[in-house]
Amino acid sequence: MLSYRHAYHAGNHADVLKHLILVHIAQYLGEKPAPFWIIDTHAGAGLYALESAQAMKLAEWQDGIGRLWQASGLPPALAEYLDFVKILNPDASLKHYPGSPWLAQQCLRAHDRLRLFELHSSDARILRENFNRSGRQINISESDGLAGLKALLPPPPRRALVLIDPSYETASDYGNVVKTLQDAVKRFATGTYALWYPLLPKREARELPQRLQRLGCRNWLNATLEVRAPAGNGFGMYGSGMFIINPPWTLEKTLHTTLPVLTRLLAQDEGARYTLESQGD
Ligand code: SAM
Repeated sequence: MLSYRHAYHAGNHADVLKHLILVHIAQYLGEKPAPFWIIDTHAGAGLYALESAQAMKLAEWQDGIGRLWQASGLPPALAEYLDFVKILNPDASLKHYPGSPWLAQQCLRAHDRLRLFELHSSDARILRENFNRSGRQINISESDGLAGLKALLPPPPRRALVLIDPSYETASDYGNVVKTLQDAVKRFATGTYALWYPLLPKREARELPQRLQRLGCRNWLNATLEVRAPAGNGFGMYGSGMFIINPPWTLEKTLHTTLPVLTRLLAQDEGARYTLESQGD
């Protein structure tokens, strides 16, 4: 039984980090004429109203996209991501926030494809409503994205980004993403994989980056953004990370210039910081 609904968290600091990186990778893939696929294993609802009761309950977006909305002089990658959010908010007032499927769709050309998985029946229904006119280019499956990924790899064009963005509702999610990636890179070694994970003071979360590094992939990048110091009581998400296998060569350099600015904008206390680690040829 899934209880997580992304509508309560849409546009928070974790979405900003994840979507900044998603947009950068998708745009990089679009620079070459050859087609590509984006596979989003945990799609959510696709689009969110920031004035809805769900989004306003915790109002996490106010300390996420809300802090970037009026910012000026942003580094190019942040400005490009923000430009996408502006397409959804043409009258300059921030009322809507895009989910990963919407951002991915914006980066597709006619011959590119988007494959979406969403297990929660309510969010899968909303996702379908949001993308019901997109024809063959977008396929939506109300099923387990980790299990479904297998059948899609390798994708026909042999160029793809796989975004894995679980809600980590159960401790087993951590092991499942490691196993899924292990299998996925065997099937499609040259694909780009971007896994989001929370920074939480619990063992499974702390160990995840090391487990991913031990997968044996030659090229990876691990970016984290902590918006505050971990709470003394051992509870609460204080930031998040993105582990990217086979990142575009442009990503690390881009994050080196972007993360310092993003950290300053999203900092909630003196403990805010970012890390960037990589291994590559
Ligand atoms: N990727 C979305 C975005 O960036 O806008 C947010 C996704 S949210 C963090 C995680 C979503 O995964 C939730 O909507 C949840 O219902 C869904 N979910 C949980 N387990 C799943 C699974 N095994 N397969 C597919 N979807 C799942």
